[in-house]
Formats: sequence, structure tokens, C-alpha cells
Amino acid sequence: MKFKIALLPGDGIGPEVTNESLKILDAISKKFGHEFEFESQDVGGISIDKHGTAITEEALSKCIESQAVLFGSVGGPKWDDPNSDVRPEDGILKLRKELDLFANIRPAKVYPALSGSSPLKKEILENVDFIIIRELTSGLYFGEPKKRWIEDGKRYAVDTLTYDEDEVRRVVKVGFEMAQKRNKKLHSLDKMNVMASSRLWREVADEVSKEYPDVELIHMLADNAAMQIITNPSDFDVLVTENTFGDILSDEAAVIGGSMGMLPSASLSSIPGQIDSDAKPALYEPIHGSAPDIAGEGIANPIASILSTSMMLKWSFGLDEEAELIENSVNALINNGVRTKDLSNNNDYLTTNQMGDEIYKLIK
Ligand code: NAD
Repeated sequence: MKFKIALLPGDGIGPEVTNESLKILDAISKKFGHEFEFESQDVGGISIDKHGTAITEEALSKCIESQAVLFGSVGGPKWDDPNSDVRPEDGILKLRKELDLFANIRPAKVYPALSGSSPLKKEILENVDFIIIRELTSGLYFGEPKKRWIEDGKRYAVDTLTYDEDEVRRVVKVGFEMAQKRNKKLHSLDKMNVMASSRLWREVADEVSKEYPDVELIHMLADNAAMQIITNPSDFDVLVTENTFGDILSDEAAVIGGSMGMLPSASLSSIPGQIDSDAKPALYEPIHGSAPDIAGEGIANPIASILSTSMMLKWSFGLDEEAELIENSVNALINNGVRTKDLSNNNDYLTTNQMGDEIYKLIK
């Protein structure tokens, strides 16, 4: 089969890690006979330098025309001037909006062989493997009014948390679809004790649950979830929540596994498993940033990007077997003690390129 991918390597370690993802796609295409067609576009700081904007209209159109977007990372000290009119992050924000990427999916998984790198105790980490789904295009970050003003010499500011029922329904459905394919347990996180938007969220989640009688829906207050993710992380399987709660809780979940370099993510514009001919392409990226402190040294861990590629194969192209082969190859190497610098406590580690080569060899 033939697939068209928009490739946006970005800044810092972005190009280093996406290069390794391309290597893995090459191995998959050789083994399974698929054809992956790429078009590389600038995004972030490099796009500001070359075109004066964090993403050009042409790059955006190429993304919209593709079947999936593979993203590296953007940003770096060179573009950090707070007074600047353009910022590298504008590129990803514009993409999220244009592609209507309403569901951000972040797996939080603990590799037993890496449990020593986690800040949590080993016994708490057993069987930790869950997914957080964060609503990404509405909620507190987008609601209006959103402004600052001065009245009687005093400064005021307001942000607004608004959802309509359709926005809640579609993201909650993503949760149910994922839960149905996993352990049939969905936690929906809200603050219904104090927020009207959360009461709507809970009401809609209850309505959607009738379509998925085989999935257990558990409502939990988001502050309680923040505690449970640290104290009983293995109790969770799939969680779905509002934009801001999801932002905070998914960062909390990211540290459980020990390294930023291991965690992939997907941002979807349609409900998996449901045919939607108008759906725009999904975007896949590692959760880490451009890591300016190590960029150019060839020591970045490419696994988060490679696992993002595996999510792309599974969720956008329906290539479950191919995705599983990538995941199993990563697992096998980690279990055999193969490490990049971020995972190693001595000088015995592989470079970015070498780690990509090892995974390539296992797949081919
Ligand atoms: P970061 O994720 O880039 O780095 C945090 C720490 O983790 C650093 O010490 C880094 O060396 C390490 N790290 C990250 N990824 C790694 C990998 N693959 N292998 C080994 N070590 C890795 O976060 P930051 O330092 O807060 O941000 C740096 C820049 O990235 C900023 O400009 C920020 O705005 C940007 N950023 C971009 C995105 C994105 O593109 N989606 C996300 C987060 C941060």
C-alpha cells in the first residue's frame, strides 16, 4: 500500500530523531512492501529564519493534503525573545487549529527494565501502562472572553472555560473507542463539584457510555486523579479530560516512566474506528521538545519519535502488525540493556543513529 506523509522535523533534536523514524519506515516498507511518500516542510524556528513565519501557508496545505503528519519539535534559545512577534510554537498551534486536532493521546508506559530511572518506587510501577486523552482545541485555553483590563486602578484578568456538547462528545468517544480496544475501563476526569462545564462534561460522558455498554465508565475529580496517578498508576488504563487538566496530568504522567525520550504522542482529528471522509490528517510527535542542551551532539534518544511513527502506522494507516513489530523491537532492545545516554548511568550508550540502526536491524 502507498501512504503520503508530511514530514516536519523542526528545530534542535527534531531533525535528528525524525531521521531515525524515516529509517524505521524504510525497514517497514522493505519488510511489508508498503510505499511511504514524504514531503519535508519547515516549521518552527527554522521556518521563521527562512520564511519569517513559524509555518507557511504552503507547508500547511501540504499537511492538509497528506494522510498523516510526522512532527519533530520546535523552539530554542535563538527564538526566545519575548518581544518577538513570531514564535516557533505558533507553528504547532496553527497546525492543531487547521487540522482540527481535538484529541491528544499520550501513552504513559513504564518499561520494567527502566524502572530505576523513575522517581517512583519500583513496586508502584508494576504493570503501569495507560493512555491520557486530552481535549486539545477548546476548553480553558480557547474560551472567550480571554483578556486583561484595569478598573479603578486595579488589574483584572479573565480566562473562560467553555465547551459545547459536541466538543465533549467527540473526545469522550475517542476515549471509549480506545478503552474498548484495551481493558474496557475509561476514567473521565472533571471538576463537577465546582464547575458548570464539568457538569456538562459528565452528563455527556454518561450519555455516550450507553453506546459502549461493554466499557466501564468511572468519573473521577481531576485533583483526586493527580494523586492517584502517582500513588496507584496501575489502576488506570484510558483517561479522558479537558484541555488544561489534560495538559497538567499528562506532564505528571510523563515523568513516571523516567525519560522524556521514550514517550510518543498522537493528535487526532477524527474518532478512531469511525469512517469520516472529511477528517483531516492526524499528527504524531514525541512529547519532548527540541532539547537545545543536547542538540547537534547526536545523543538524543530517538525512541519517542520512532514510537510516534508506530502510532501513525496503527491509528492513521491501520497497519497494526507493522506497529506492533516496531514496539516489540523497542521492548526487546530495552530489555536487553541497550541504552541511549539519557537512559544510561555509565558511558556505555548508543548514539541516536546507532539506536535507530539497532531497531532497523530487528525489524528488517
Ligand atoms: P525538552 O523536552 O526539549 O528538554 C527537557 C530535558 O529533556 C532536556 O534536558 C533534554 O536534553 C531532555 N530530552 C528531551 N528529549 C530528549 C531525548 N529525545 N533524548 C534525550 N534527552 C531528551 O524541554 P525544554 O528544555 O523545556 O524545552 C526546549 C525547547 O523545546 C523550548 O524552546 C520549548 O518551547 C520547546 N518545546 C517544544 C515542544 C514541541 O515542539 N511540541 C514541546 C516541548 C517543548
